[in-house]
Amino acid sequence: MSGFFSKKEVQSNSRPDGKIYSCASCGLVPGSMTPKMEPWGNFKKGIMIIGPGPSIKDDKKGKPFSDDAGRFLKRTFSNFGIDLEEDCVCLNAINCLAISGDSSRFPTDYEISCCRKSILKYISDYQPHLIIVLGMPGMISLIGHRWKKDMGGINKWRGWKIPDQDFKAWVCPAYEPSLILDSNKPELETVWKQDIENALNLLKQPFLRNKKHQIDIISDLKILREISSDLVAIDYETTGLKPHGPGHRIVCASVSDTADHSFVFLMPETRKERQPFLDLLSNPAIGKTAQNMKFEDTWSRVRLRTEVKGWVWDTMLGSHLLDNRPDVTGLKFQTYVQFGVIDYDSEISPYLKSSEEKNGNGINRVMELLGGPLEKKLLEYCALDTIYEYRLMEIQTKLINYSFLPF
Ligand code: SF4
Repeated sequence: MSGFFSKKEVQSNSRPDGKIYSCASCGLVPGSMTPKMEPWGNFKKGIMIIGPGPSIKDDKKGKPFSDDAGRFLKRTFSNFGIDLEEDCVCLNAINCLAISGDSSRFPTDYEISCCRKSILKYISDYQPHLIIVLGMPGMISLIGHRWKKDMGGINKWRGWKIPDQDFKAWVCPAYEPSLILDSNKPELETVWKQDIENALNLLKQPFLRNKKHQIDIISDLKILREISSDLVAIDYETTGLKPHGPGHRIVCASVSDTADHSFVFLMPETRKERQPFLDLLSNPAIGKTAQNMKFEDTWSRVRLRTEVKGWVWDTMLGSHLLDNRPDVTGLKFQTYVQFGVIDYDSEISPYLKSSEEKNGNGINRVMELLGGPLEKKLLEYCALDTIYEYRLMEIQTKLINYSFLPF
């Protein structure tokens, strides 16, 4: 049975997952010469730099980026006309020295979680326009509590220019400078410098606020006949991955006719009630886009006995075409890196997974949401998927310079 409150509404801020996060439990203070190191720099251009953690030299000198990697960072910034100490404020994902043997080490996820509160407070106090995150610890600090999936490594995150809607700042991940110095690979240095330059170019750009949207939850589908757009994004929430097994069904569907608007509905029981939607699907004059369109295509054929006509774009393939790194084509990842919106699916996603993960015909728990307090959330989640698909499609087709000629 669903409870009265969502997990988000009842969780503790200091113990979001039931664990204690504090300096005492982190335990790094006693091993540091400069415990709880303060941010350093005059912040004249609104840039915040977040490194992985203080080095031994930083700890001795009492300020971030005092070592060779810091000097390299300073030189690189200076080449782009930025004075690290005057124009930026520098800090780390943890404020104390983490050591292994006689050298500094990357902080553990737990140490990062303990220190997160102070890092988030610095962001809220400084309100940077641009946050350059050097290495994965900074990314874990900034989004680890909001990103409920596997974070992956820095290779997946570097180079994106993320308009983070919670921080209201551009977040730009890049490799940590010590990696560039230690690797001695000129190609890595070139990529790193490009990432830094691209990030610094955002100083000339205002922060990109997410546009407002409207979601219409409908029960009578006749209104779909009034859609005048020649392009829609569609998305289904279903009882599983594959439609063929007994008991499977399309639970709800969403149709976005613009980048800011979506119709969403529980799939009616009868073909007659579904007809306006089926007509839209089979109308070749209305172009269709989806994330991984073979999913919607197969479910339409099998469960709605309708062939979708007018497929024009697949945002998953578009993401892969524009960036062939592994693990970057998912809609939730793209929604965060392109629009800065994170975690809109966390309440619903557990219900969309089957207990038999390896069985494509397994049935998930989405039907449990119907008739309960999360039914509306499910519909909104489905609607947001199509809104972000539509927006992604607009970005991708512009970048690829692709126009939808006759369908
Ligand atoms: S690293 Fe952060 S959480 Fe850990 S002891 Fe130092 S200030 Fe406290």
